[in-house]
Amino acid sequence: MGITTTSCVDVTPEQLYRKFASLDGQYYDRARCERYAVLIKEIKRLKQQRRAIILAHNYQRPEIFEVADFVGDSLELARQARNARNADVIVFCGVHFMAETAKVLNPERTVLLPDMRAGCSLADSISADDLAERKAELMKIFPDLKVVSYVNTTAEVKALSDACCTSANAVKVVEALDSQNILFVPDQNLAHYVQTQTKKRIISWTGSCYVHHQINAEEIEKVRRAMPDIKVLAHPECRADVLALADAVLSTSAMARYARESSASRFLIVTECGLSDRLLMEVPGKQFFKACKLCMYMKMITLEGTLESLRTMRHEIVLSDEVREGARRALERMLELAA
Ligand code: SF4
Repeated sequence: MGITTTSCVDVTPEQLYRKFASLDGQYYDRARCERYAVLIKEIKRLKQQRRAIILAHNYQRPEIFEVADFVGDSLELARQARNARNADVIVFCGVHFMAETAKVLNPERTVLLPDMRAGCSLADSISADDLAERKAELMKIFPDLKVVSYVNTTAEVKALSDACCTSANAVKVVEALDSQNILFVPDQNLAHYVQTQTKKRIISWTGSCYVHHQINAEEIEKVRRAMPDIKVLAHPECRADVLALADAVLSTSAMARYARESSASRFLIVTECGLSDRLLMEVPGKQFFKACKLCMYMKMITLEGTLESLRTMRHEIVLSDEVREGARRALERMLELAA
């Protein structure tokens, strides 16, 4: 589950400085912490004024967690938002497809993305037109074909899918569908992982997350040699040779749960760096080593941009009713199949 983080008590620069010291003392120096404390105070004030909540993805910058009402993966955030009955506005500190999902599940609320450049290499690897074409081709060969799209896709792609899935429930969704032939889009690595877990035919797309795809097995082996007791937790968007070296293949939220509950004390978190930063701050007494891979799209969201978004109500996510309804159907189908 995602976690509720924000507090209405103002944070002092000294508190921020102490909190961030374990991450990078040079970057989070006193001057930066002073500036951030002012921005955080103003964001919290505007949140109240606008009746807004802030949802932050696990890969966000640590200072964003200070203003977030919920931190988690994209789907649990969108679902959390549905329960925030007294919010009129959702500011999504994540990337574009995530803000779209929040809009799909919360159509009556205004959903804002602080920076429209916050895209995603995976979501960009497939368009609705290309999917429609490929689906039509394949249906001539496999008339029972079903399309499963990872949540890291645009709302238009979701709307053309029979069901969505997350990294946590992909296998369950594929198994539950009444078809032996699944076009699984767009992540080739996740598709490969799912194929290892099912007897159904998985037809993959050629998309990948540029962050996870660049992590290689040699890096993992090097860490293992240096620390044989370390637990390696890898995200299924990583390549197959990396997953083969992992102690557990988990979604980001499942990694956080695993690290909290495990008796192990050292973990290599093989996913975007933001998650290990979050774990370092939230799970004291344990050590987290990271793959040192940053998602440039996630890091486009800043405190300054978030403040500006709340101040001017920019950039609003708008979807047509047809797309929103189609994407909602695919998301609901996922929840039903994975239940
Ligand atoms: S980490 Fe990868 S999948 Fe996630 S937003 Fe960045 S590019 Fe997209």
